[in-house]
Amino acid sequence: MINLVLFGPPGAGKGTQAENLISKYKLVHISTGDVFRKNIKAETKLGLLAKSYMDKGGLVPDEVTIKMLKEVVENHDNANGFIFDGFPRTTPQAEALDIFMNAKGMNISAMLALEVEDDILVARLLNRGKESGRADDADESIIRNRIKEYYNKTAILKDFYSAQNKYFGVEGVGSVEEISERLYKVIDTL
Ligand code: AMP
Repeated sequence: MINLVLFGPPGAGKGTQAENLISKYKLVHISTGDVFRKNIKAETKLGLLAKSYMDKGGLVPDEVTIKMLKEVVENHDNANGFIFDGFPRTTPQAEALDIFMNAKGMNISAMLALEVEDDILVARLLNRGKESGRADDADESIIRNRIKEYYNKTAILKDFYSAQNKYFGVEGVGSVEEISERLYKVIDTL
């Protein structure tokens, strides 16, 4: 079983790369951002709560996010493995994920981190915002706040997974295929 954490700042290309990884390795893709957006669309209680944080570019509280993630994993009992995209984003989330996976006889195989410079990220996200209409992609200051949130809270996860020898940084600039190949190369050594 391969369980990957796909990591990188907003706009690093996690969603795009996840698609290629899913088809190559037959993994279940769980993007917490997507699950939140679905809940917002369906106007659920969770969606309403998440929206108040997401619209400002902040993180949804750990307790809420962890509970939701566990439910989604439990809905995929027969999975070959998972790609976690956008989760974990904080140390408490990473710790909760390890405990949860271990209790199910699974573990995280690797964190694959897409490395991209800030200015490229901002340009990519503004572009995506024009196409998708995503509120948090429309405004440069919100985008910069999300990148800041990433470095303030999320980047420490590099240390968390490095301590377990599970951190792999991959250059996230180039063609989609080139970047995928770099990821496959790492996964095939796991
Ligand atoms: P993403 O689609 O991964 O860029 O996530 C969009 C937004 O959803 C983030 O800016 C957060 O507000 C929220 N979100 C997604 N995943 C998490 C998470 N693991 N923890 C807290 N908030 C999250």
